[in-house]
Amino acid sequence: MVITDIQFEVRSFRFEEPMKIAFATIVDMQTCIIRVLTDAGITGYGEAAPFSYVTGDNLETVISVGTEMKKALIGVDPRALGKVHRIMDSMYAGNTAVKAGIDIACYDISAKAAGVPLYRFLGGDEPHVHSDVTIGIDEPARMAEAAKSWVDKGFDIIKVKLGEDIGTDAERIRAIRERVGENITIRIDANQGWSVKDTVRISRVLDGLGVGLIEQPVPAHDFEGLAEIKRKSDVLIAADKSCHSAFDAARLAAMRAVDVVNIKLMKCGGIYNALKIAAVCEAAGIPNMIGCMGESTLGNLAGMHLAAATDNIREVDLDSVYILKQEDIYGGYDHEGGCVTLWDAPGIGCIVKGE
Ligand code: MG
Repeated sequence: MVITDIQFEVRSFRFEEPMKIAFATIVDMQTCIIRVLTDAGITGYGEAAPFSYVTGDNLETVISVGTEMKKALIGVDPRALGKVHRIMDSMYAGNTAVKAGIDIACYDISAKAAGVPLYRFLGGDEPHVHSDVTIGIDEPARMAEAAKSWVDKGFDIIKVKLGEDIGTDAERIRAIRERVGENITIRIDANQGWSVKDTVRISRVLDGLGVGLIEQPVPAHDFEGLAEIKRKSDVLIAADKSCHSAFDAARLAAMRAVDVVNIKLMKCGGIYNALKIAAVCEAAGIPNMIGCMGESTLGNLAGMHLAAATDNIREVDLDSVYILKQEDIYGGYDHEGGCVTLWDAPGIGCIVKGE
């Protein structure tokens, strides 16, 4: 089986509510759906959701770089994932969203060719994942109401975006904890918004409020800062933007800089590279979380299959399926609150309208 064509199509998705995080307010998302066609008649679907300041690409470059990669990938077996990545990496550094989109489509083809759901193709046995849901930055009382409404819908893990002044940030968590009660897991994402000193100071308050994890409190490059926070804080510290690759994971592990590493397919260039990060982290005794950056159902489902198949991915933050309005890509999973069951269909399993 060989690749005969790769097609790129931009689609728009709107958030149910605008999402405010430490460095941006996001109203809608455009992503690129990628189709990889083969001479065996199997079509694979992938998605590139570029965030230029994280992934180094944008929708225009996804299409222009992707079109260059297509020329080199026609005639290659899509199941030869190592070769597919060697070719892409030999042409362009970075550009991890387009690489992830092609990678996901090639894994979709591989699982379809094997006649199994992707999580089984990746070595998994159970089709279940348990995801959190994210609350954007807002007034403390409004955030508490938002958290309560998710809890009422059956979600029991809430991820809260923070990263402004630590006084207001602490108030936000106090308000949320009061509103949702003791039994809901709360984790924080500060999106690089705090200093080392601020993080150490607020972590004591957050620990008292039962917060389990603080993600990316300080700028991505500050590995020493993460290590200092980890030494001084009782709350688990996670790297997100500090880790794009297995090499970053190895450095973070060697420096004992974090307790958890957040993998994102768009950030690392797809499932093939995510598995390498997970292997490095597992060897270092560091569990993984898996997150998303505004992918539609398709990209999220690829992450859910990976999470279901990978023991070291213990925490799941794949919630854009719950906060995006989507009509043209759907299905592939059922859920009660954050508890997801993947469909027993070959490949990724979602339905792309009109295909
Ligand atoms: Mg994050």
